Amino acid sequence: MWRGPALAYNPAMQDPAPADAAPATPAPPPPAAAAPRKHVNRPPKIDLDTASYRVPSGKAIQLSDYATRDDGGLEKIVGKDEFHLLRHRLVALQENLYAESKRALLVVFQAMDAGGKDSTTKAVFGPVDPAGCKVKSFKAPNSEELGHDFLWRVHANVPKKGYIGVFNRSHYEDAVTVAVKKLCPEDVWEHRVEHINHFERLLHTEGTQVVKFFLHISKDYQKKRLQRRLDRPDKHWKFNPADLEERARWGKYQERYAEVFSETSKKDAPWYIIPAERRWYRNLLVTKVLVDLLEKMDPKPPKADFDPKSIVIE
Ligand code: ATP
Ligand code: MG
Repeated sequence: MWRGPALAYNPAMQDPAPADAAPATPAPPPPAAAAPRKHVNRPPKIDLDTASYRVPSGKAIQLSDYATRDDGGLEKIVGKDEFHLLRHRLVALQENLYAESKRALLVVFQAMDAGGKDSTTKAVFGPVDPAGCKVKSFKAPNSEELGHDFLWRVHANVPKKGYIGVFNRSHYEDAVTVAVKKLCPEDVWEHRVEHINHFERLLHTEGTQVVKFFLHISKDYQKKRLQRRLDRPDKHWKFNPADLEERARWGKYQERYAEVFSETSKKDAPWYIIPAERRWYRNLLVTKVLVDLLEKMDPKPPKADFDPKSIVIE
């Protein structure tokens, strides 16, 4: 990314037109200069505390104690401005993570249907360089995947060093959905939380930071969002009648999620329960957690093993 002064457009540098050339068409407008990244090094404008959304490790929780709609006392216009500032920072940090290529970041999103996993991913990671960021959506496992242990397909999709990996649903389906719907015997799924903790610990010690977000909505809000998918023809493709079966199990999902969160929220792989009904605040919180984490990781591009001043480009 160009960080120096804007390059001036110099028409004199164009090849001269031959004498018999057809009448010249008007010159194309000068290329737009790269916009300076004015937000990148500015400190955040507001002091946003994300700790209260983090699930304490090992402490039993109830999802009903966590807000689904919040604004942190901020005005929308202020929150959105801060979000844009932080997102610029995220883009710059991802570039350094890629340049360093020694560590990775795994971001997990879980939610009830219509909780906003897709739109959060789009809003937060949209401007991040797609060459260093990979999104993986986990659907119900196919027969090949079911023929292996539940982490087989997950491990194959964790980000490699230098990358940010985003999981839209994840191995947590195997501890939550599978338990709620009794898709395998209890003596199999009951061990999964323990396997997940070992797996995430392995990732951490091998250089992959893990952070997990539950996009928390109320049952009423889900109704509105699902109804919107029915009301708008352009959203019909998003409606899945099977979502209504999951909706009927709302209470069981909330209970099981709460159990799993308190057992798997660790210092190095925390869960955040994000109030997701105000989308601007949801995006702001998620981005803030990611920027804080990446700033702590402090990825650095490798130092040049040559003296740039000694090199002359002819
Ligand atoms: P949208 O929000 O757009 O509906 P989605 O993530 O719900 O996206 P779908 O294709 O509608 O995508 O649903 C995926 C389904 O796959 C979910 O019902 C989820 O519970 C299920 N699923 C994912 N992983 C597993 C798993 N390991 N075991 C059982 N079911 C799973
Ligand atoms: Mg769905």
